[in-house]
Amino acid sequence: MHLDAKVLNLKLTTPFRISSRDAQYIAPNVIVQVTHNEFTGYGEATPSRYYGETTETVLACLALFTSSLGDDPFLIEDILQRLDKIVDLNSAAKAAVDMALYDLMGKILGVPLYRLLGLNPTRTPHTSFTISLDTPAEMAKKALLAKDYPILKIKVGTRNDVEILKAIREVSSATLRVDANTGWTAKEAIKNINAFEPYNIEFVEQPVPAHDLAGLKLVRDNVSLPIFADESCVTLHNIARVSDCVDGVNLKLMKNKGISNVLKMIHAARVHHLRVMLGCMIESSLAITAAAHLTPLVDYADLDGNLLIDDDPYEGVKVEQGKLVLPEGTGLGVKESTRIVRDDSA
Ligand code: MG
Repeated sequence: MHLDAKVLNLKLTTPFRISSRDAQYIAPNVIVQVTHNEFTGYGEATPSRYYGETTETVLACLALFTSSLGDDPFLIEDILQRLDKIVDLNSAAKAAVDMALYDLMGKILGVPLYRLLGLNPTRTPHTSFTISLDTPAEMAKKALLAKDYPILKIKVGTRNDVEILKAIREVSSATLRVDANTGWTAKEAIKNINAFEPYNIEFVEQPVPAHDLAGLKLVRDNVSLPIFADESCVTLHNIARVSDCVDGVNLKLMKNKGISNVLKMIHAARVHHLRVMLGCMIESSLAITAAAHLTPLVDYADLDGNLLIDDDPYEGVKVEQGKLVLPEGTGLGVKESTRIVRDDSA
């Protein structure tokens, strides 16, 4: 098999802000093509600075991986084991190769990914739509603009989080989920989450820093809302470690090494009676569609990365009144958008 990669810069519709990190205007991603005979599988890597990744580290990993792919995409477990031996971590680069291999397998067999995985495409959940950090008034304005989405995910982790929730609840009757992205101490989290009580929140994601599992447990024991781990849940082994501290986990292809490993993590989470959400980074419809194919297995979806960009070069999963609608094409079922695909390669 042969691998090619190019950088794709996605432009955000509005600057994206979350707790503890700088505002983002562009999401630099990497598109991967894996070719086998007459078939080509596509994958996408969204490097995360939080996990030490950049487009340069992704491209460097892909250059190391290319000679280890072998000649049979159906030996995906062997291939992914080899990639793990070449370099530790670097989840996004591995996710892109894994995604391209699944696309390739589906195309060779002539079936959509959900069929390859034995999943029922009508059992997709609704996705949330993210309101990124801003002033309470601006966030309420964004919530009004997002009135077509029945579920909103509200970013918090500021000094006026309760005012944010109040302002949004005044203009929106949507289901509200809250994500603090590690922005609070356990004490602040307990105070804020208990103050959210009147605003009818469904659950709260990652209230405290990733390493602070005792803090996660303390929060969960002192609030009535369900608590989910995101940044605290990166590896398969993390599932067991967080299982006593939270009610659910947010898994992502980019953070958790792609489809194969996320499938394992979903099943491991079920062993520990955890609820599961499938989330994303700022990704094009290529990676979002790949994740959407797995959603019949999960309770919640937060797959809106492609809805936050201006120049999505791909088409795949659609959102109809919030519900994810999977494409019927083979593999990921993703096509190039009718808009021109830009080549941002250096
Ligand atoms: Mg999160």
